[in-house]
Amino acid sequence: MKGPGTVSIVGAGPGDPELITVKAMKRLREAEVVLYDRLISEELLAYAGPCAELIYCGKAPGRHAMPQEDIHRRLVGYALEGKRVVRLKGGDPFVFGRGGEEALALAAAGIPYEVIPGITSALGAAASAGVPLTHRGAAASFACVTGTRCHGDRQPVRWDLLAQGVDTLAIYMGVSQMVAIRSELLRHGKPAQTPVALIESGTTRKQRTFTCTLDDMHKLAAAVKLSNPALILVGEVVRVREQLQQFEHQAEVYYGS
Ligand code: SAH
Repeated sequence: MKGPGTVSIVGAGPGDPELITVKAMKRLREAEVVLYDRLISEELLAYAGPCAELIYCGKAPGRHAMPQEDIHRRLVGYALEGKRVVRLKGGDPFVFGRGGEEALALAAAGIPYEVIPGITSALGAAASAGVPLTHRGAAASFACVTGTRCHGDRQPVRWDLLAQGVDTLAIYMGVSQMVAIRSELLRHGKPAQTPVALIESGTTRKQRTFTCTLDDMHKLAAAVKLSNPALILVGEVVRVREQLQQFEHQAEVYYGS
């Protein structure tokens, strides 16, 4: 009898299909089943072989197209059939990706699995917006933070500590929570004039980037109809983007594709 197959929990990178790792591409090419999420582009799926079965597990914000337990059951089920399975997730699987839960489910079922990291969207969006997350004299630390607390999640975001102790904040899943995020940061002493970058569809051809201050970020987001996926970068490093832009007429500078 054939033994269990393997599951690769794979990070697809932040959006630009070229920002996937060589190892991830190899696994996709060899996959017999690919279970993929909402933010995975057609171009990335095209890396899978012609015979691979492609299964959409898309998650729109606030609702789950396929319950997480079903995803676990399918991963285990296909592996028990002896298949080579790829679980393809946006960005990095272990950054707000529920990759840890999937790894636990596979480990508990005795299925051989691996995790292949991906470029998380904070890194991708920062690079393509020209905002270094750390910068000499401006930022010695950054944090990846969720802007949306899941119902029943008992792990609170410590906005008090983040506002005071971390230089650059990369806030994921924050579009619908701009007002609350702004008031938490202001309440805990982040200066109202702290620069902010809003990056929509970072690293893709549809990328839009806006800069403003912490004080007016919710107004700008509403005015430009900022939509998902978008990342909020808060910190003095956002000024570097403006400095870089001053040179753009002198030298050709490319951010992203
Ligand atoms: N595992 C993913 C994050 C999933 S949570 C990662 O490592 O990137 C989904 C959130 O990621 C979105 O709400 C948004 O805040 C962010 N995101 C994903 N892709 C993005 C992109 N191309 N540009 C900006 N933000 C993005």
